[in-house]
Amino acid sequence: MYKSPGIKSGFGVARELKELPGRVLAVSMEIPWALLQSQMPWEPDHVHLVDDMDLPTLEAADRDLPACDVVVGVGGGSCCDFAKYLAWKRGCRMVLVPTIISVDAPLTNMIAVRVDKTVTYIGDIFPEELLVDYALVQAAPPELNRAGACDIASIHTGLFDWRLAHERTGEKYDAAVAALAEECLEELDRNAEEVYNVTPKGIDTIVDLYRREVKFCTEFGNSRPEEGAEHLVAYALEHLTRRHFLHGDLVGLGIFAMSRLQGNRPEWAEDLIRRCGLRYWCPDASREEICTALATLRAFVEKNSFFYSIVHTAEITPAFVESVLAGLEKARPQ
Ligand SMILES: [Zn+2]
Repeated sequence: MYKSPGIKSGFGVARELKELPGRVLAVSMEIPWALLQSQMPWEPDHVHLVDDMDLPTLEAADRDLPACDVVVGVGGGSCCDFAKYLAWKRGCRMVLVPTIISVDAPLTNMIAVRVDKTVTYIGDIFPEELLVDYALVQAAPPELNRAGACDIASIHTGLFDWRLAHERTGEKYDAAVAALAEECLEELDRNAEEVYNVTPKGIDTIVDLYRREVKFCTEFGNSRPEEGAEHLVAYALEHLTRRHFLHGDLVGLGIFAMSRLQGNRPEWAEDLIRRCGLRYWCPDASREEICTALATLRAFVEKNSFFYSIVHTAEITPAFVESVLAGLEKARPQ
C-alpha cells in the first residue's frame, strides 16, 4: 500500500536529526558523512559506513549492528537503500537525508541490492520522513543532481512505448495515469533551468516529481509510464560493458536515441535533456560501446524478453546508429 512521505526541505533542516528520541543508528558513506559533520556536528549512538550493497552484506549488518529505535540514512541512493533495508527488517522508524538527488531511492518502497553481481529489488517500505537539506545537496557535484531529471524526462519516450504496446499487444493502459505523467514532464520542462542550476526550486521540483511519479506508478502497478526503450538502452550498455554508470548519463542517451527511433519530437526531447543538464553523450562510454549497444539492442531485448517498445517495431539500421553517433558528437562539450 502506497504511503505518502512527509518531506521537509530547506537550508539546515538536517539539524532536526539532533532532536531524534531513542537510540539512533545512522547509515552513511565517507563523503556524505564528512559533509554532514562539517555543516552540523552530530553524534548518533552508532554510525555505520556502507561499502557495498550485496545482499549478504546487508544481512550481516542487520544481524551485527546494535539495536536501535530509529535508522537514519544520510547520502545518495545506496545509503538510503541501506537504511531502508535495516528499517524494513527491524520494523523501526526511519528518517532519510538524501545528499544527492540523482535517483528516486529516497521515495520508493523497493530496495536495490546485488545478488551475484546483478541488481535485484527486494523489500517494501515507503519512506515516511525525508529531510532535504539544500546546503547538503548543493555541496555535491552539480552533474550528479542534474542526473536526477532522467527518470522524469524518460516519461517522454516511456509514454510513447506504453501507447504502442497498448495498441499492438493490448497491454493495459490508463489514460488518466498517462495524463498525470504528462503533467510531470511539463513541470520538468518549465523548471529545467532551476534543475540545471540546482537551486532550491530545482531540488524541490525533482523531489516532488519523484514523489508524484512513485505514487501513480505504484497505484497503477508498474513503471510503464516512465520506463520505455530509453531504459532498454541503459540496460544494454550496462550489460555490454559490465560497468557502472551514472543512471542519468545512460537514460539521457536512451531518450536521445529512442525519441529519434520513435519519430517522437526528437528535437524537443534533446532540448529538454540538454537544458536539464543530462550528459546524454555518455562521457564514460566509448563510441564503439554505444555503437554496439544500439546495433545489438533488438537482440538484447528479445533474448531477455523485455517489455514491448519501439525496439520491437522499428528497425535499428547502421544508418540510424551513425546518425545517433553523429548527434552525440555534436552534443559533446569540446
Ligand atoms: Zn531509471
